[in-house]
Amino acid sequence: MRDKLVVGNWKMHGGLAQNEALLGDLRARWRAPRGRKLAVCVPFPYLWQAQAVLSGSTIAWGAQNLSEHASGAFTGEVAATMVAEFGCTYAIVGHSERRTLYKENDATVAGKAAAAMAAGLTPIVCVGETLGEREAGSTEAVVLRQLEAVLMRLGERVAEAVLAYEPVWAIGTGRNATPEQAQDVHGLLRRRLGAVGSEVTLLYGGSVKPSNAKGLFQMPDIDGGLIGGASLKADEFLAIATA
Ligand code: PEP
Repeated sequence: MRDKLVVGNWKMHGGLAQNEALLGDLRARWRAPRGRKLAVCVPFPYLWQAQAVLSGSTIAWGAQNLSEHASGAFTGEVAATMVAEFGCTYAIVGHSERRTLYKENDATVAGKAAAAMAAGLTPIVCVGETLGEREAGSTEAVVLRQLEAVLMRLGERVAEAVLAYEPVWAIGTGRNATPEQAQDVHGLLRRRLGAVGSEVTLLYGGSVKPSNAKGLFQMPDIDGGLIGGASLKADEFLAIATA
């Protein structure tokens, strides 16, 4: 039986005082019900703070990106081993904002997933179609293409990764996929994963709120959520995590 996992993606939000309050609040209030896991992915400069506040708690933390390279002349980049030094469990790779704004392609994302694993981190690999792609009927082709690159790179080690289906049209828009739309894609991804499919945690992301989390999370192939905006408010994030 797979655990349920809810991960907050803070994106480029936060500040020392604000983080201290939010992380402290989460730590004080998260009861870690059996079979449920909670994590936050914070901006790089705050990894130390997440480690300081959350160490010894049942809440994990991680980064929102990392380099596919191990080290070298890559100004401004952050290696997976550096992220791992701050006690991280997770690293998000291939978020649609990285794919769109920073032109990360499928091969780069797969390289980042491999780099995360080599450093002992669990990559949270994001896949998802744009509105245009959905309307053109190519949702399945797009997410399978994105997954294929990761499978080619990781092989059976994909069993240790987390996959997040995040339709681009649902991220930060307030317009979530219906549970049925999300389940269709999650089922497809799990079938494509083949023999290891039953082991892989599959998250849904895109405008998850306390009001829609339960409907999404009770679908058979949805193992939890990757939460953007609502992860910045302890009340909302915890309500989602216990939905
Ligand atoms: C995200 O950033 O991964 C995300 C799902 O954002 P939101 O929940 O705000 O749509």
